Amino acid sequence: GGMKRGIVIKDEWPGYSLDLFTYPEHYHEDIESVYIPHGVIMNRIERLARYIMDDFGDNNIMVLCVLKGGYKFCADLVEFIKILGRNSNKYLETRVEFIRLKSYLNDQSTEELHIIGSRDLSFLRGKCVLIVEAIVDTGKTMKALLKHVETFEPKMVKVAGLLVKRVPNMAESLTDYVGFEIPNHFVVGYALDYNEYFRDLNHICVISKSGKMKYKV
Ligand code: 5GP
Repeated sequence: GGMKRGIVIKDEWPGYSLDLFTYPEHYHEDIESVYIPHGVIMNRIERLARYIMDDFGDNNIMVLCVLKGGYKFCADLVEFIKILGRNSNKYLETRVEFIRLKSYLNDQSTEELHIIGSRDLSFLRGKCVLIVEAIVDTGKTMKALLKHVETFEPKMVKVAGLLVKRVPNMAESLTDYVGFEIPNHFVVGYALDYNEYFRDLNHICVISKSGKMKYKV
């Protein structure tokens, strides 16, 4: 249903024409279209915050933010959880921890999950954990992270993914709170990068051919 898949963006959706929105001028030739405008992203995150508050009840939330791509989503999601709490007189304590992952080694996808700047996650024991990730593609990264988090025996683990890609073996069931289900395109913006570029773009956009060439390493 609508809750589990989020807002479903169809394969034939071309995105909005660039001149309908504002965006950093330095990316003028590098993006094809505005795929998901920033305002829509924010409205959807507010709705996800509501689902999360309903599910977590009176439990405090241990937020585990997956860097770097997840930092904007995480910041906005936690902010909405606070605003909704304020408006309903139900204050949930949120604590945010950061984790950086790499499931690829030298361009090769590996079964192993590499935690960069690894930290002891034993404070998760007995806690209600919310993993916040910008995009779930094959789900390999999330599967490995979930396995790792479970070793610390938290009371509950939920996953929020702003974007979930519609790929052959979809990882939809891994993600409890889905912002948008998108076709299998490479997207940037709203903290998602292409070789560290485009994180400063507010909208989620599809990169153009010339943009791919320009920032290739
Ligand atoms: P998975 O393990 O699910 O295949 O890959 C997840 C990771 O791949 C994400 O954390 C993200 O870093 C990267 N990724 C997958 N698809 C995209 C995309 O369309 N755009 C960007 N910027 N990163 C992506």
